[in-house]
Amino acid sequence: MKALLSRLRAHKTEMLTSLRQLVELESPSDNKAALDRLGQHLAVEFEKLGGRIRFHKQTHAGDHLQVDFPGAGKTILILGHMDTVWDVGTLASMPFRVARGRAFGPGSFDMKAGIVQAIYTLRALQEVQGGLPRAITVLLVTDEEIGSHSSRPITEALARKSSAVFVLEPAQGPKGALKTSRKGVSAYQVKVEGREAHSGLDSDKGASAVLELARQVLVIEKFTDRKRGVTVNPGVVRGGTRTNVIAGEAVAEVDARVSRLQDISYLDKKFRSLKPFDERCQVEVSGGIGRPPLERSKKVVELFTLAQRLASELGLTLEEASVGGGSDGNFTAALGIPTLDGLGAVGEGAHARHESVVIGEMPRRAALLARLIESLPASRF
Ligand SMILES: [Zn+2]
Repeated sequence: MKALLSRLRAHKTEMLTSLRQLVELESPSDNKAALDRLGQHLAVEFEKLGGRIRFHKQTHAGDHLQVDFPGAGKTILILGHMDTVWDVGTLASMPFRVARGRAFGPGSFDMKAGIVQAIYTLRALQEVQGGLPRAITVLLVTDEEIGSHSSRPITEALARKSSAVFVLEPAQGPKGALKTSRKGVSAYQVKVEGREAHSGLDSDKGASAVLELARQVLVIEKFTDRKRGVTVNPGVVRGGTRTNVIAGEAVAEVDARVSRLQDISYLDKKFRSLKPFDERCQVEVSGGIGRPPLERSKKVVELFTLAQRLASELGLTLEEASVGGGSDGNFTAALGIPTLDGLGAVGEGAHARHESVVIGEMPRRAALLARLIESLPASRF
């Protein structure tokens, strides 16, 4: 254990250089060329470790990168994403920089530092232990920030062949808690069709879509049930054309989150059963389930308890957190594959301009991942 940590600490400067390279290869979710450049760069890094490279080619999205390390036992899947929420050119105003023990830059925290940690985790295991104790697959996708539509089937297929999934998403909060539960996220569009009319000449002939939608929003708002872990947010509404026209159309876009798998269909039914107050209006609901929740199952707790024990050997008090946002870990957990999330970097400001990583924690988090890989009991996982 000590050998792993001191080896990783010795690699700290190199880890920082690697992080800089990844951050400076900007990679927004919607830029295939940029994502593929980053993918090629990472493929070289993983090839140096003896990984077998496979790209899942995509027409529009960036190619997803799978790296296999053959070994004994059932496979451990290490999951991450290459895409960021930052456009190409962001570096001009938000360059990679180091200050006060932190590394800043677009995508540094979410989640390029996590990818760097994983690379050095594997390298440290090879250097210190002479090889990897288990078969390992690394999957780095290119569309996590926009819903993982093209990568989801790949993630799920690999998860089904794995006994545990470790997710390189950022740790939670300044103490770097792991994420043992995540909410499921759905997106609904509620569209109202009314009847347009002149607001002065024919006001009785019109049926206002805006008014109808306003009533619907009040109904939808009541779907929130905090005790149950259900929250809805009609975050966007639009409708109507002019003040002197009774609105013919109005739309609400609603974000809905649940803590438990079973509440997905409960909430879905509620949306599908919305009825117009004014019978001259039509209410149409589209959209639905995006990511199912990552539930804190017994196996998830078992993984976390193991991580907590290993962390304390590294001088780390590890806590667990429940978060509202989803990740690709939600897909693997929903399949019943034990999933531990938040094993990436410690830092702050995901999706914000002050996004940054605590450099000193990178070796220790990499050591934690290495110890988890080593210590996962083959009889249970
Ligand atoms: Zn992320």
